[in-house]
Amino acid sequence: TLQVAMAFALMSSLYGDFMQALGASVRIFDLLDRQPEVPNEDGMILPEMDGSVEFQDIHFTYPSRPETEVIKGISFQVKPGEMIALVGPSGGGKSTLVNLIERFYDPNSGTIALGGQDLKDLDPCWFRQKISMVSQEPTLFACSIKENITYGREATTEEILEAAKQANADEFISTFDDGYDTLVGERGVRLSGGQKQRIAIARALIMNPALLLLDEATSALDAESEHLVQEAIDRAMKARTVIVIAHRLSTVRNASKVIVIDKGRIAEMGTHDELLALNGVYKRLVLRQLTAGAMPPDNDTDTQIDKQ
Ligand code: ATP
Repeated sequence: TLQVAMAFALMSSLYGDFMQALGASVRIFDLLDRQPEVPNEDGMILPEMDGSVEFQDIHFTYPSRPETEVIKGISFQVKPGEMIALVGPSGGGKSTLVNLIERFYDPNSGTIALGGQDLKDLDPCWFRQKISMVSQEPTLFACSIKENITYGREATTEEILEAAKQANADEFISTFDDGYDTLVGERGVRLSGGQKQRIAIARALIMNPALLLLDEATSALDAESEHLVQEAIDRAMKARTVIVIAHRLSTVRNASKVIVIDKGRIAEMGTHDELLALNGVYKRLVLRQLTAGAMPPDNDTDTQIDKQ
């Protein structure tokens, strides 16, 4: 914990210098981009973390936009081992909910519990080690691939290799002359979006998080890369508690529960089949958005979905 706390403190203090030194194109982790509202005071460390999450009547307004309430009374539960899919129109609040779980911000009212304990009572450095986020456009350090995978943690070469293999990253990493010591960023190799994502997945795997937060890619990856990323994501999701901002039909169909977030509220919640039967927002989303071009926008679509 101390090591991670120190690494975070160091990264925070160096961030400005780093950015200047590296130029704007290489960014450190997403979380350092944000302005956490939360002081890093010491909190509780639980003997065990089961990855469960509970939102109770959460209201939230971004401090920079005090006139707009973004989350308007959201409650839901994620049990250990469940895979929960968040879906909904752009701007509805899905990413905000994920940000709140990582405690980049505190809600204005309501409580969020992680592992059965109010987030506010937990040591942020500790619980962030129990959570991994794989975002659509993961940002990597301007250091070696190995360091990007270990994220400042101690790990053996075998562990790093295994995580990279599971993440479908070992193969492309091995093609570099310096292998895992290859530098990424401006002075190193340029990685494709899919390759970056697979490194981020390897990082998540090595953390072995109790809770995995995932933002599925909507950005265009080439077909092969998309397949490799998806396979890696599927492996990372296995036997774990997962909250995924979902854009793929196969993900929502496998989810224990799908939560449709619209304008800061839960519009619908249930399994894929239950929600389709409602014939409401979710069905329209499946027809229009989730599928993102995977299905023809004509009347046949209904039949195809019913056949899923
Ligand atoms: P998308 O699918 O496009 O990613 P989303 O459902 O994840 O959308 P959010 O990104 O959570 O939605 O955004 C919810 C609302 O909060 C939007 O109106 C957005 O403009 C606003 N918002 C998001 N981030 C911030 C921020 N850092 N500061 C102020 N407002 C924000």
